[in-house]
Amino acid sequence: MIIQPKVRGFICTNAHPAGCAANVQEQIAYVKAQGEFKDGPKNVLVIGSSTGYGLASRINAAFGAGAKTLGIFFEKAPTEKKTATAGWYNTAAFQAAAEEAGLWSKNINGDAFSDEVKEKALKVIREEMGKIDLIVYSLASPRRTHPKTGETFNSVLKPINQAYEVKNLNTSKREIESMTVEPASEKEIQDTIAVMGGEDWEMWLDALKGKDLLADNCQTLAYTYIGKKLTWPIYGKATIGRAKEDLDRAASAITDRLSDIQGHAYVCSLKALVTQASSAIPIMPLYISLLYRVMKEEGTHQGCIEQIHGLFQQLADAEGHKDAAGRLCMDGKELADHVQNKVESLWNEVTTETIDTLTDYECYHAEFLKLFGFGISSVDYDADISPLAPIHQLID
Ligand code: NAD
Repeated sequence: MIIQPKVRGFICTNAHPAGCAANVQEQIAYVKAQGEFKDGPKNVLVIGSSTGYGLASRINAAFGAGAKTLGIFFEKAPTEKKTATAGWYNTAAFQAAAEEAGLWSKNINGDAFSDEVKEKALKVIREEMGKIDLIVYSLASPRRTHPKTGETFNSVLKPINQAYEVKNLNTSKREIESMTVEPASEKEIQDTIAVMGGEDWEMWLDALKGKDLLADNCQTLAYTYIGKKLTWPIYGKATIGRAKEDLDRAASAITDRLSDIQGHAYVCSLKALVTQASSAIPIMPLYISLLYRVMKEEGTHQGCIEQIHGLFQQLADAEGHKDAAGRLCMDGKELADHVQNKVESLWNEVTTETIDTLTDYECYHAEFLKLFGFGISSVDYDADISPLAPIHQLID
């Protein structure tokens, strides 16, 4: 099959196995080049391990700390006629590289919110891994079916209390447009908290603790985005921001419940980056295109792998790195006033005609395609390639 990108709106509906493998290899090479973490984790569970920040966490744990990793994700397998999703190919490539390096690694493809997947994970951990010292919670999902009630919740990306008129970069039309986002109802706010808040993170930790599968001094991380004035109306102070506030509540509840084993839960604030999750958020394509330009000019631009590498460096002394809100922060350079001011002034100025001169949309678009394994110079996109790529050590 010849695999060329099929982009529909803010998603790409196919993925390239060789391109995804090249992305994973690039991230592994970055981590190896940094040398070993001091006192890095050894037995790691990554929930949401196949793309974005979760994949970067798994790569840092395995190739920077030599850790055993169990990865959980929700991806589509390939068929003869249809490619897999990118996270499937990423995981196939990660697994192959881990095996080559002699690293223990296994995978579960299924709904992390379900009891069934939790039970599968507990079984592998008990039988093959031993007590876990790091749990990374990096899910980004539009819906969740509650394992106890069977109710399905959908998350929404809406402001709270009032409608908000936003400047947006319409990536399909390559146009700057104005769009009005209506405010969320109270039910939509609560449903978004049910999907992207902390309840499921707590359920994972309770399940592990209940079976005595947590090591003394274990740590667990959940990822958040804080942002500033430009993104607050649709993110920080909107429905998703409410869900992220619930992570702070869950972090202190988990830390309390782990006190007998000196375990700690941390919410970690990370930089805005192009991922499958962020490209679906109104305003993010414009904000990130401007941010890339400003941070590249400053020499402070980073991707997922560098952000998580920096975060993992803090883990040996996480208590010493906490900010006033108890979080571990990797977003300081993005949120610096001078960076935000530059982004804001470009934001106010940019029009459809000046997208190419005022923003780094070119980089945004290239990074977007790269998420699906496209636009990589070492890959021949005219070559006939099989979409089938098995993931070894995939648990049924
Ligand atoms: P992503 O879309 O790249 O990754 C999401 C992961 O979750 C994938 O591995 C996917 O397979 C998995 N997943 C989704 N639903 C699942 C389910 N039901 N069961 C099992 N696995 C499931 O997203 P990302 O941008 O890396 O986001 C990860 C976390 O980082 C989120 O909490 C997000 O809010 C946070 N974050 C993202 C940004 C950003 O700019 N991208 C910035 C700061 C924080």
